[in-house]
Amino acid sequence: MTATPHILAGAAIGKVLRRPWLAWPVAFVSHFLLDFTPHLDSHAIYGVEQGGPTAPEAALGILNFTFGALLIVWLVRRQPDRRVVLGGALFGILIDLIREAPLLGVWFRTWPGTAWLSVFHHSFQHSVTPAQWPLGIATQLVVVAIALWVCLPRKHKDPGCSTENT
Ligand SMILES: [Zn+2]
Repeated sequence: MTATPHILAGAAIGKVLRRPWLAWPVAFVSHFLLDFTPHLDSHAIYGVEQGGPTAPEAALGILNFTFGALLIVWLVRRQPDRRVVLGGALFGILIDLIREAPLLGVWFRTWPGTAWLSVFHHSFQHSVTPAQWPLGIATQLVVVAIALWVCLPRKHKDPGCSTENT
C-alpha cells in the first residue's frame, strides 16, 4: 500500500491503543496486513514494466510519504496523545522507510538477520494493475477515511486523559 494509508493507519492504532509498548508493535504488524489488501501503488504504475525503481515512481513515493507525514503531524499537533500517535505513524511506515533508504535498504535486503523479513514483506504485496485502479484506490481511501476519523481531534475528551479536569 502507499505511504499515506500506512502512516495514518499506524497513527490511528496509536490513538486507539494509547500505550506505546502495545500500539507501536501492532502498528508495525498493520503494515503487512495493509500490504496484503489489494492496492495500487507507484511501483505498479511506473516501475513494473521498466523493471525497477524509476524516477517517477520514486517521486510519487516521496510525495505520498511527505503528504501523509505532514497531514498526521498537523492533525495531532495539539492533541495530548500525539507522542504515541506519531510513534504509531512511524512504526506503520517503518519497514518501507528502511527498505527505501539508500544504504540501509541494501543492508536490510542482504544481511541474513533481516533478509528474511524483507522477503516476508515482499511476499505480502497484493498490488493490482493500473487497469484495476478503482479497487486499488478504493481500499486505500477506506483506510485513510477510517484512520482520519479516528485521529481527528475531539471536542470532548475522555476525563481520564485530561489534566484540565482533575
Ligand atoms: Zn510495504
